[in-house]
Amino acid sequence: MFSTTIFSDTDTKLHATQDRPTPMPTNHFDIIIIGAGPGGLTTATILASHGKRVLVCERNKIIGPKICAGGITLAGRTETVPLHLIERHFPNQIVSSGWQTTIIKNQSPIVSTVNRHDLGQWMAERAARAGAIIKTDCPIHSIQKGSVTSRAGTYRYDILIGADGANSMVRRHLDLATDLLGAGIHYHLPEALPDMVWHLDPGVFNTGYAWIFPQKNRTSVGAYCSRKDMAPHHLKEKLNAWMTDQGINYQNIKPQAANITFDYKGHQFDNVFLIGDAAGLASGLTGEGILPAIISGEEIARLIINPSYIPNKLHRLLKNHSRHTRILLLSGKSRLHCRFIMESLVLALRLQIVPFSALEMAR
Ligand SMILES: Cc1cc2nc3c(=O)[nH]c(=O)nc-3n(C[C@H](O)[C@H](O)[C@H](O)COP(=O)(O)OP(=O)(O)OC[C@H]3O[C@@H](n4cnc5c(N)ncnc54)[C@H](O)[C@@H]3O)c2cc1C
Repeated sequence: MFSTTIFSDTDTKLHATQDRPTPMPTNHFDIIIIGAGPGGLTTATILASHGKRVLVCERNKIIGPKICAGGITLAGRTETVPLHLIERHFPNQIVSSGWQTTIIKNQSPIVSTVNRHDLGQWMAERAARAGAIIKTDCPIHSIQKGSVTSRAGTYRYDILIGADGANSMVRRHLDLATDLLGAGIHYHLPEALPDMVWHLDPGVFNTGYAWIFPQKNRTSVGAYCSRKDMAPHHLKEKLNAWMTDQGINYQNIKPQAANITFDYKGHQFDNVFLIGDAAGLASGLTGEGILPAIISGEEIARLIINPSYIPNKLHRLLKNHSRHTRILLLSGKSRLHCRFIMESLVLALRLQIVPFSALEMAR
């Protein structure tokens, strides 16, 4: 029979598409990937398309949904996400601080938005078509040398990839501390607001910021800040007050919050790799993490296939990552530092001394 398949650990087959012979589901894999987010699924697609026997274990029953505003910057959109998945394009960005407001215009869209459910489903289909076996409803609860265990059984690996997000158990298994992390909190309004907005006011959000990211039929309104600079419950209070000021009605909508990690401590530890949020590759400054997950997934897959591959895109990402962390840490030194950096940034954007793309992780 010719098919590729996404399996559920508890259910039977979810779907099949015509492509290539079904791999025999024994319990030994060249590569096991924990986590079917954008990072894990990108890695799975490349490795499986190079003939590797790949198992992806995802704890959720449905692939895709994730607490996220769905913002994709220009570089990410053009290189990694097909046009039909883009819900809205925003050539204009409204950026404000405590003292100034500017509209940054560009001929091509600076930031677009995607729906994480749809992105995840598309990526899972692509990985399955390439030959990866994807098990949903399959939380891994323990990791041993050479094997991982879910409630359905134990699977053996030659290589393990931790793509399991901000609270990664693979990272804990490697004994890596996570000291640099932020919190993101947002409300999904059931309507599509017209504009994409960034509000960087150190008097309110300290080193963080608030956003309005409209999608097709709904809008993510939220805020992000490094946990060192503001506790999540304060961030929520500030966000609520800002939304009230903006005339945004969030009554009866449940806020959703999650960590964003930027404590990168390496990506290869013998035969265990970390990618995306698990590796601490999101931006500490902006919270952008979809593209870092995809790029690190691509590059690590290529390194596994060919150990002498030079991962230039990963090196560029790491350079931007450490630049973002340095700016954040400098802003966090005092309210004065923060005000100076934020206002200079908005002014530089306003005067077009710095392009908006300077803030992208994948540039
Ligand atoms: C409020 C908020 C808004 C954000 N907005 C944006 C944005 O607009 N743009 C942007 O670029 N980034 C944004 N981010 C960050 C972005 O969501 C993440 O950086 C990105 O999803 C990281 O991708 P990943 O593949 O590394 O991990 P994830 O997308 O987190 O995927 C990890 C997967 O691993 C699974 N998993 C975890 N543990 C296990 C286990 N033990 N067994 C099996 N499976 C497991 C999870 O269920 C999940 O599916 C936002 C984050 C937050 C909190």
